[in-house]
Amino acid sequence: MQPPVRRVTHIELPIYLDFFGGLLATMVGHDIPEITDAIQAQSSKMLHSSTLYLIRTQVELAEKIAARSPVDNPRVFFVNSGSEAVETAFLLTTAARRSNQVIALRGGYHGRSFGTVAATGIRGWSATSLSPLQVTYAHNGYRYRSPFGHLDDNAFTAACADELRTMIETATSGDFACFIAEPIQGAGGFATPPGGFFAAMNAVLAEYEIPLVSDEVQSGWGRTGRSYLGIEHYGVRPQAITFAKGLANGLSIGGVIAEESLMNSLTANSISTAGGNPISMAAGNAVIDFIDSHDLQHNADDIGRHLIRGLKLIAERNPLIGDVRGSGLMIGVELVEHGTKNPAVAETNTVLAEARSRGLLIGRGGIHGNVLRVTPPMTVTRAEADEALQILGSSIEIAGALTA
Ligand code: PLP
Repeated sequence: MQPPVRRVTHIELPIYLDFFGGLLATMVGHDIPEITDAIQAQSSKMLHSSTLYLIRTQVELAEKIAARSPVDNPRVFFVNSGSEAVETAFLLTTAARRSNQVIALRGGYHGRSFGTVAATGIRGWSATSLSPLQVTYAHNGYRYRSPFGHLDDNAFTAACADELRTMIETATSGDFACFIAEPIQGAGGFATPPGGFFAAMNAVLAEYEIPLVSDEVQSGWGRTGRSYLGIEHYGVRPQAITFAKGLANGLSIGGVIAEESLMNSLTANSISTAGGNPISMAAGNAVIDFIDSHDLQHNADDIGRHLIRGLKLIAERNPLIGDVRGSGLMIGVELVEHGTKNPAVAETNTVLAEARSRGLLIGRGGIHGNVLRVTPPMTVTRAEADEALQILGSSIEIAGALTA
């Protein structure tokens, strides 16, 4: 019997404009020769070491990121992911301060491990009663949904800081391991606190000598425009910074930058088998070099402003948009039901599906799942931004019309 004829069908694969940046991990874009070459060159030399032995690429990357971080006497420890990075920050601050009490922000997301879910302030992802940490949640500076009524930015910020002080003084013993916050909340829907927020919060923390940990897993390395770390926009110097995602343009990487006195408490936990992997280190070095040599922070700032302007214009003709916010290429568009601030969740689903069917990938976030996250790689061009704006405009119009 003749074998059956195999018909090869050519399937047209869709091509997408990636405005979610691979969940903010594809920092400088797909298929960048400088990054690929660095990975290939390293892979022919050495695939693995560990944090047990220092290797050149680790030291080079640690020096590069320490030099670019607003941390005094910085020391760097490499791990494999954002969850592990935050977990490491908890290890070293709880050990240094002999306390398991942590202050986190409502709406924050810090990872999928036992300690990091405890600090996460989004229902569905957050703590169980078995949490190893005692977590108290402070207000996150989410201006659009202020619980303090109609205040200007200064008064709003002062109200958040007052609430923090009252919370420390009344509901806790005051001896905290750390305060952890994302400068712009990622999964929380790119909630972007006003400019004075972290200075005001940090002034309260300083009174109690509570270390500030800036979780820069999403906001790190230039994505917020103009500076390397998101917290620099707020003019404060944290005692520790956690990073991951974009630093190796999508390869597994994570780590903590901490003041020497904090990092010294880590000695008993200072080995990570795959942390500081040579391939990830090579990619990390190439990413930082690429950002510097192509002035991508400037591009993130420039295109980010262009996108925010375009989205605000779309908002003027479409009441589905309640708020447009962000910094650099971390832009949130919050969708609400007409004339209210009720989360427009079904409409958000429609916008995501319509945009995707037109070839545009964007993300979703927010405590109610009603925020579009627009966050392309830092190499995005103005022409690509215009194409995305055009697709977003029509997708939002369709979603608005369906439910008007
Ligand atoms: N911290 C923040 C701010 C994050 O956004 C994430 C992941 O999205 C994490 C920590 C956890 O990182 P990972 O998924 O690499 O464990």
